[in-house]
Amino acid sequence: MVETAPVCDCDLAIVGGGIVGATLAAALKDAGLRITIIEAQSPTALSQRQRAYALSLRSQEIFTTLGLWRQILPRIASFGKIRLSDADYGRTVAFEQTDLDRPALGYVGEHRVLVETLQGDLGRSPQVDWRYQTQVLGMTEGEHCAELELESGGTRQILKTRLVVGADGARSPLRQRAGIQTKGWKYWQSCVTFTIRHQNPDNDTAYERFWYDGPMGVLPLPGNRCQIVWTAPHAQAQALLALDEATFIERFQARTQGLFTGLELMGDRLAFPVQLMQSDRYVQSRLALIGDAAHCCHPVGGQGLNLGIRDAAALAEILQTAHNAGEDIGNVAVLRRYERWRRGENGIILAFTDLLNRCFSNRFWPLVIVRRLGLWGLFLIRPLRLFALRLMTGLLGRTPRLRGV
Ligand SMILES: Cc1cc2nc3c(=O)[nH]c(=O)nc-3n(C[C@H](O)[C@H](O)[C@H](O)COP(=O)(O)OP(=O)(O)OC[C@H]3O[C@@H](n4cnc5c(N)ncnc54)[C@H](O)[C@@H]3O)c2cc1C
Repeated sequence: MVETAPVCDCDLAIVGGGIVGATLAAALKDAGLRITIIEAQSPTALSQRQRAYALSLRSQEIFTTLGLWRQILPRIASFGKIRLSDADYGRTVAFEQTDLDRPALGYVGEHRVLVETLQGDLGRSPQVDWRYQTQVLGMTEGEHCAELELESGGTRQILKTRLVVGADGARSPLRQRAGIQTKGWKYWQSCVTFTIRHQNPDNDTAYERFWYDGPMGVLPLPGNRCQIVWTAPHAQAQALLALDEATFIERFQARTQGLFTGLELMGDRLAFPVQLMQSDRYVQSRLALIGDAAHCCHPVGGQGLNLGIRDAAALAEILQTAHNAGEDIGNVAVLRRYERWRRGENGIILAFTDLLNRCFSNRFWPLVIVRRLGLWGLFLIRPLRLFALRLMTGLLGRTPRLRGV
């Protein structure tokens, strides 16, 4: 095994302590590497984001291997049914829990629950040093290590590390400073997200309904609540935010066609413009990008975070194997193994979410016929339905082999 080059302060510096960056640290905390996480926000601010995520079965497997699922599961919701439908077309495609022979088809967890669990786990590890309220100002590459220039509370400091991982989100200052180009586009839509409470007796179904102006996702949360992701053209999304609460609930009820009874709006409505983006490269010497720093997709189907969690698990496997074999983890030849693994798999999901959004978010009648034939096919042909389910739950593609706990 190669000893850390004496000039380096740590082996791995992860910039961005969001769910993806923290998952990578959790996967490597017992790998014999010294890890520093650099996060711009305070611990409390980091966990406060008002968002819930659909978590795929692959993400569940990864958190189980990391020994975290037992803490996460009691605080999140699961769903055993998925209902897919197209605006006013009467046929609904039903996915059932028995289709995959698993306890659930997916899970929905709030940002706070995932971040707090990861913070707790990493806080107990002597191998992991969290630096909150710290910004990265620059990065330079040396022969044995990269140098990160950090700023915290007005003080500047240099951190030397064998590898820098950019988990710093869609705008990734690190990616931009490294001159890594991206391809993609901004959509004409924004997503309005909010939480409702209802009084229906059941709350174990996830709905994705495609409307002419954009899809609407309904995801169950604990306590008879649901997280809603309502996609609409930008101006319409802003108009939805401006409505008073009673009118907004009326609109929502009309859109969901009376699906819920006793509706109550919980918390704020927020709007996010959405984009598709893929970095031309995920790696260069002493730098790797994961999560939204490497790619972003339309929220339809709830894929973005799940892709990032799979990036983290894949990179962890590559780094652990390389470290055990005595290789330099910052060497670009090692890092390319991660890029070859993940860039193609992510590209497929990015293309699929783009296709779904473009095909369904319009009234061009030849396309309406094609997509309804597609839904008809999914409805009638079970192997096709199972393939779609396995694609969206992350079960297709290479499985990361992480250390068991
Ligand atoms: C409306 C909407 C709904 C969505 N729903 C789902 C869903 O149901 N399921 C799903 O899988 N995905 C979903 N997504 C996608 C998901 O939100 C993202 O893919 C995910 O949050 C990306 O996580 P990340 O850790 O890569 O980045 P982020 O969550 O953006 O974290 C980046 C971190 O880096 C820190 N940072 C940034 N710059 C610096 C710096 N210079 N120095 C130090 N720290 C820095 C930030 O403070 C932040 O903590 C949705 C997205 C949207 C917009």
